[in-house]
Amino acid sequence: MATVTLQSLRKEFDNGRIVAVDDLSLEVEDGEFVTVVGPSGCGKSTTLRMIAGLEQPTSGQIFIGGEDVTDVHARNRDVAMVFQNYALYPHKTVEQNMAFGLRMSTNLSRAEREEKVHQTAEMMDIEELLDDRPSELSGGQKQRVALGRAIVREPDVFLFDEPLSNLDAKLRTTMRTEIQRLQDELGTTAIYVTHDQEEAMTMGDRIAILNGGILQQTGHPKSVYQN
Ligand code: ADP
Ligand code: ADP
Repeated sequence: MATVTLQSLRKEFDNGRIVAVDDLSLEVEDGEFVTVVGPSGCGKSTTLRMIAGLEQPTSGQIFIGGEDVTDVHARNRDVAMVFQNYALYPHKTVEQNMAFGLRMSTNLSRAEREEKVHQTAEMMDIEELLDDRPSELSGGQKQRVALGRAIVREPDVFLFDEPLSNLDAKLRTTMRTEIQRLQDELGTTAIYVTHDQEEAMTMGDRIAILNGGILQQTGHPKSVYQN
């Protein structure tokens, strides 16, 4: 577990013609689950991608567990990101997809990696899918695998980028409960991005409202939406 501190983060694209994120400061506590909510294009993805190290801020700093990681390469940050489009490797099996993240981030032996993958698969109820390839899976199964791939690494921080928006309403509810259960069980610090206010309200310990790249408000779900 770890705190995540964003200090005056700014991200410009297109030589400054686009300001995707503007002077964003936010402190996420150890084990806290913060949802970032706002309309499409408000800078949610860009913020997460900067925390993951997939995008370099134009200015500002990012601290994870008190360490300044602003210039640390993505693979050396102890975060795991879950994407809207699952981002599974199409030519690898489910087992290989899950093991790949582990290989990148730890020094475990092959046998230890296999054991961890199997334990996580059991936890996510995807054991019977381990030999399948992503194209053989339903959307819900893919998202379970994507979650499993993130969990198996036991990261300090989970980053969720609209992980449920490609699922139908029923699956969305199931997966929501699943993510909350995981959160209760693992207690990992998490930042969860969504454009869905209701989702943000039910999932977060705290909500951060982003608009036009600017963090407008943070607070507990009830207090935020009373105004
Ligand atoms: P959200 O996740 O809230 O939908 P994004 O972070 O994806 O928002 O995008 C924020 C703004 O930055 C948008 O105006 C988007 O068009 C722009 N943007 C994002 N990525 C790039 C990029 N690689 N090049 C240019 N503009 C981008
Ligand atoms: P979103 O728009 O939901 O943030 P995208 O599908 O646009 O996510 O993916 C964002 C970028 O991250 C893409 O350029 C993609 O190549 C890259 N990417 C996808 N999967 C991974 C992964 N597992 N690890 C690191 N980068 C990834």
